[in-house]
Amino acid sequence: MSKDTVRVRFAPSPTGYLHIGGARTALYDWLLAKKTGGRFILRIEDTDRNRFVPDAVQDIKDSLTWMGLTWDEGPDAGGEYGPYYQSERLALYQKYAEELVKAGKAYYCFCTSERLEEMRKKQEEASAPSGYDRHCRDLPADLIQKNRVAGLKYVIRFKVPRTGKTKVYDELRGEMVFDHETLDDFVILKSDGFPTYHLASVIDDHLMEISHVIRGDEWIISMPRHFLLYQALGWEPPAFVHLPIFLSPDGKGKLSKRHGATGVREFKEKGYLPEALVNFLLLLGWHPATDEEVFTLEEAATAFSVERISTSPVSFSLDKLDWYNGLYIRQLSHEELAKRCLPYLQQDGLLPDPCPSAQFTYLVSLMPLVQERIKYLTEISEAVGYFLRDEIEPPSKELLLGKKGTVEETRVILSEVAKVLASLTEFTEEGLEQTLRALAEKLQMKPGQIFMPVRVAVTGQTATPGLFQLLAALGKQKVIGRLKQASAVLAAQ
Ligand code: GLU
Repeated sequence: MSKDTVRVRFAPSPTGYLHIGGARTALYDWLLAKKTGGRFILRIEDTDRNRFVPDAVQDIKDSLTWMGLTWDEGPDAGGEYGPYYQSERLALYQKYAEELVKAGKAYYCFCTSERLEEMRKKQEEASAPSGYDRHCRDLPADLIQKNRVAGLKYVIRFKVPRTGKTKVYDELRGEMVFDHETLDDFVILKSDGFPTYHLASVIDDHLMEISHVIRGDEWIISMPRHFLLYQALGWEPPAFVHLPIFLSPDGKGKLSKRHGATGVREFKEKGYLPEALVNFLLLLGWHPATDEEVFTLEEAATAFSVERISTSPVSFSLDKLDWYNGLYIRQLSHEELAKRCLPYLQQDGLLPDPCPSAQFTYLVSLMPLVQERIKYLTEISEAVGYFLRDEIEPPSKELLLGKKGTVEETRVILSEVAKVLASLTEFTEEGLEQTLRALAEKLQMKPGQIFMPVRVAVTGQTATPGLFQLLAALGKQKVIGRLKQASAVLAAQ
């Protein structure tokens, strides 16, 4: 692989489902790889056994796939730099940790958790700076040997130089300088033989030849540790790009669970299209050179550039996401929209799974009636339920009469409409319109007067697509049956 090849990695910890912050990182990774003809790598950082969530990896993979962010290397995809699960790379981390010890750049620490707890307490009482007190930093070699032979538990800590500073470099923020006095001798290998995030991430980024590390700006504080590790291992660090945090919609603090959905899976369940979520996330931290706001993934990959990523926090506005969703729903072909809606309808028991092709074709024919009306795919059941159900709940008398109708008049309307429609051999939009308008004239009523009770009778709703369109789509049998059902409601006391 040439030195100039862009290799970016998305490195989630499977401690939870994929968060939209992570999804944005993955998106920017993917875009940079596509733009430059590079590689997008998925690496699972599963070294924190206490916080491991068993189905998180599946959720992360499903969510990325749903968004169209397929990876070139990683779980399922394979690749020459694997394994791509950190838990399968333990021997590597152990080897480098031992090398650092041998080189005098790291050391065994045998401090028990009780001792560390006591140390913390004392620091707190004395309002002294917190952090490891370097108790084991200079243990004599024979004591280390003795402790190890005795099987004492230990961690390996990195020896942070006691004085001086480390300069780090971020592509967007430039140089930042960290004083060593603010850093303690951090753990690189835990007592169970697992690495900490810092060690594993530096080793893997180097061995996997990662050229750009893109991640949330909460990791900026880890940079001096990472740079110190690169230096100690004699490696060149990759380029770092830290993305701005999301603010809550009111702009008053970080976005969190309490502001609503934050997991990609939740957005999917709420009926958002992946195109909308991707487009929305694209502009949450990056801005194009033009004022264009609608981008497919491919268009975004062409337009994307690291320089146009912003460093200031970005407000998370659901209104904007909703706007994108409506836009993308209206852009889909009828067939594609039906396909996207199908799982939601199956989940609500309105269509069988698998869906027979005749029923799917019928669903496709309903799409022109509802495409302009739904904002989320989850609204589809409400929008087409009365088409798909054989029967609907009889509407209430109040709904049938509306504000002005009387029982007597409405009964006449429903029975006259049922009569003329029964005589039609064909149920076409134009034929239905002509017939019903002629009937209104004959009954000496305004067309609107007869359309509303018919609409309510056949759908159970007052807001629906155009009446003639929907009668044609419902078909004669359902229409006549429902008109009769509604008449019965009015006949009842
Ligand atoms: N495993 C870290 C996380 O979950 C990755 C941070 C990084 O990209 O370096 O966020």
